[in-house]
Amino acid sequence: MKTSIIASPSVTRHILTKYKLIAKKKLGQNFLIDPSVVEKIAAAAELTPNDRVLEIGPGIGTLTQGLAESGAEVVAVELDQRLIPVLGNTLADYPNVKVMQGDILEMDIPKLISGPFKCCANLPYYITTPIIFALLEQNLAWERLVFMVQKEVAERIVTEPGGKDYGALSVTMQYYTEPQIAFTVPPSSFIPAPNVESAVLVCKKREKSPVELKSLEIFFKVVEAAFSVRRKMLHNSLKNYEKFNDSQVEAWLERADIDGNRRAETLSLEEFARLANAVE
Ligand code: SAM
Repeated sequence: MKTSIIASPSVTRHILTKYKLIAKKKLGQNFLIDPSVVEKIAAAAELTPNDRVLEIGPGIGTLTQGLAESGAEVVAVELDQRLIPVLGNTLADYPNVKVMQGDILEMDIPKLISGPFKCCANLPYYITTPIIFALLEQNLAWERLVFMVQKEVAERIVTEPGGKDYGALSVTMQYYTEPQIAFTVPPSSFIPAPNVESAVLVCKKREKSPVELKSLEIFFKVVEAAFSVRRKMLHNSLKNYEKFNDSQVEAWLERADIDGNRRAETLSLEEFARLANAVE
């Protein structure tokens, strides 16, 4: 007999009671209980039996089950030791799932999953940004990211230059991908219900870099420096940063033809690239 669908209030409560589990707030544990959300996330990942998918934080296996039903090979990394035996049980019918215990931020991802892969997760909200930066900056072979995050974070990621929420996370994500909000999810779709609305982001890796760069490392250094002091004019935020000095900063801004009185949140990807390429 196939395992029953985990994504329901009654099955989730039954599992939590059976294993005497109380969701840990500090690990961002909000378990999905809406099967239509699981289906929509799995569909957004566009999985085939030939795919490999990395899931971060499988919890009790709710989304994992939806991903595994596609026939794809699933590697799921869960930090909470208590959930490992639970997953062994709830996912027993899926030989295509491998569960690993550990902190995703400490793991050597190419060792976990070889070749191109997709990454799909209902992310633990307390470490959304570090996880995204880790995946983006390590030059990993991911092709598509499908993440449930706080709605406010999703909006920050897709926002255009000029908005107050536009920041280093938006620039970085938009450099690597074309992020889109696929749909929003209310707190009532989880046990326990979080205090915030959630949204599912779909980010397909760009085939080609959207801007020409002399050095990716310098580009991200400049972006980090520019946003290091929010709401400051560029010539101040840049020169307050690490080893960048006044005369260097003025020369770069001039060479890039960017007004130093502007603020970082008004710069487009193309302007950040011009500025980074002006750095010697
Ligand atoms: N995927 C499940 C679902 O949709 O119901 C659970 C999602 S819950 C929002 C986030 C999960 O991430 C929890 O199971 C939590 O224990 C796990 N987690 C938290 N920090 C982690 C980390 N650093 N590495 C791996 N998993 C982590």
